[in-house]
Amino acid sequence: MRIDIITVVPELLASPLNESILKRAQESGHAEIYVHNLRDYTDDKRRTVDDYPFGGEAGMVMKVEPVFRCIEKLKSERDYDEIIFTSPDGITYNQHEANRLSLMKNIIILCGHYKGIDYRIREHLITREISIGDYVLTGGELAACVIADSVVRIIPGAIGDEASALTDCFQDNLLAPPVYTRPAEFNGWKVPDVLLSGNFAEIEKWQDEQAYARTKALRPDLLDE
Ligand code: SAH
Repeated sequence: MRIDIITVVPELLASPLNESILKRAQESGHAEIYVHNLRDYTDDKRRTVDDYPFGGEAGMVMKVEPVFRCIEKLKSERDYDEIIFTSPDGITYNQHEANRLSLMKNIIILCGHYKGIDYRIREHLITREISIGDYVLTGGELAACVIADSVVRIIPGAIGDEASALTDCFQDNLLAPPVYTRPAEFNGWKVPDVLLSGNFAEIEKWQDEQAYARTKALRPDLLDE
């Protein structure tokens, strides 16, 4: 899968996209992630990407032309399944959306900044608007990292132990059961006996019960879906 991220602050994306699973997924060829600096698509000496809003409100607005040029260039090179804009008024991101995106071949994620982006971009070029929650960030970069991370880790083969991604929270609309590791007793705190029993059928049953009980207690709304 290929992800192209368009931003005015490429520095914000460097480390999150180049460590851990995202790093390994790129090294193993499961994912390609490219970051495009919007300033490279300007045509003035000062590399201007923003301007004052019509109507005289406070704050700056991202200009149409550099975004248009960048997206058109990418589109001329390959077909994109989705052109995403990160926005607090988009659909609320969740695991279902991550699963859906992980099946795609090429996506673009456009990060907003400043007061927002000239609305014509959203009207004419964007195919999906995604919010990562009901709060306002400084820019879409952190949201793009959240999307890229959650999508890439579920591409089949990207995680060494594939079963691991499928037993995470929200897959099957259930929260994950508790996990423990050695030592079996620490400070008088014991790991549940069943996990030490070696009886895999019993362990699986316990995990299913825990997942259901935790979901019912903490996120009953998931069980209604
Ligand atoms: N004035 C805008 C917010 C601008 S914040 C408004 O009230 O809607 C600047 C940029 O950060 C946005 O354009 C968007 O790309 C990004 N952003 C902010 N909050 C976000 C969120 N919850 N999810 C995804 N992107 C967000």
